[in-house]
Amino acid sequence: MIAFIREIMKNQVVDILNKSELNKEDIVFLLNADPEGTQYLFNKAHETKLKYVGKYIYFRGLIELSNVCSKNCYYCGIRRDNKKVERYSVTDEEVIAAATYALNRNWGSIVIQSGERQDKEFINRIENLLKKITSISEGKLGITLSLGEQKPEVYKRWHNAGATRYLLRIETSDKNLFYKMHPEDTLHDFEKRIQAIYELRNTGYMAGTGVMIGLPYQTTENLANDLLFMKNIDIDMCGMGPYLEHEDTPLWKDKDVLLPVQKRYELSLKMIAILRIIMKDINIASSTALQAIDPHGREEGIKVGANVIMPNITPVKYHSNYNLYKGKPEIAPETDNYIRELEKQIETAGGIIGYGFKGDPLHFNNRKE
Ligand code: SAH
Ligand code: SF4
Repeated sequence: MIAFIREIMKNQVVDILNKSELNKEDIVFLLNADPEGTQYLFNKAHETKLKYVGKYIYFRGLIELSNVCSKNCYYCGIRRDNKKVERYSVTDEEVIAAATYALNRNWGSIVIQSGERQDKEFINRIENLLKKITSISEGKLGITLSLGEQKPEVYKRWHNAGATRYLLRIETSDKNLFYKMHPEDTLHDFEKRIQAIYELRNTGYMAGTGVMIGLPYQTTENLANDLLFMKNIDIDMCGMGPYLEHEDTPLWKDKDVLLPVQKRYELSLKMIAILRIIMKDINIASSTALQAIDPHGREEGIKVGANVIMPNITPVKYHSNYNLYKGKPEIAPETDNYIRELEKQIETAGGIIGYGFKGDPLHFNNRKE
């Protein structure tokens, strides 16, 4: 009887994977697939990746610029009201040194991420840093920003100064759930956040978004809608990963209703795989949060459709203070040895590191045509 049910499930997964377009019910079915069905899903996602974006995996050196944040997202360890955090800001010299490290290693890009600040000093500082990095790299280093919501003119200034990509996660595309995760005020406004993604795109950025997977009260229907949301707004890039609770945040109170960590991890891999199948030519990052659950989590993401990895190149002394969530890996920076190991694993997973390429999402150009 069990074998019979398994056979039906497998056939249904295969039928869904052969469709040219997936609807919400199909996606929910895939998210709930058993291990055998999941393997079909992962294989299809890998094939799709090879066919549409190829074997290349791009490294983006991640600089966690500062944990100073003016927002109060309920899930995040560096939220404004967490008084236990020792606040830091990487110096300009350290940022330039990190960018130079990425450049010298022939990584095509860096990502500058930070708590959100909208003050003039911060805006000017970012603009100057972007100009410097563009100048020392002679424009060869792609620069992605992940600096939260800003005014359209700020997006423009930073774009003019050399940033070409911007990541702004919607976190969840379900408005009700969004307000369980954020205070309901002007700083944390669901519609504004969606609007910001459009503004980024209108400014000329390659625009990325993403969600957290395994949030308290999140359903597989919510997750299916998240994927369809990304498809509808036609993003160029995605970074998404498991939600990991942090004890010094308000959301810690819901820790007992969470899915087990392993389940959040599996769901995250399934989300990556399905997104690859429904948005074939975008860039998908294999998130650091996957690595927090499994030391090889990012490589697993690569096997199921992701094509971007963001090794952390923030000076080590700051690592322990950028604790968005519990268990964030504190690997002594991504040392040369570590990178060599990562390279080997990516090759075993059937990839090649795209050294010397910026690795812009193909979708960006395909969309413009
Ligand atoms: N301040 C910016 C960028 C830094 S935060 C912003 O919020 O856009 C980057 C991402 O970290 C967020 O988008 C969120 O998805 C993720 N994050 C924060 N807390 C997390 C947690 N507890 N578990 C998993 N991811 C988390
Ligand atoms: Fe600040 Fe981003 Fe954390 Fe929200 S998720 S508190 S904006 S760093």
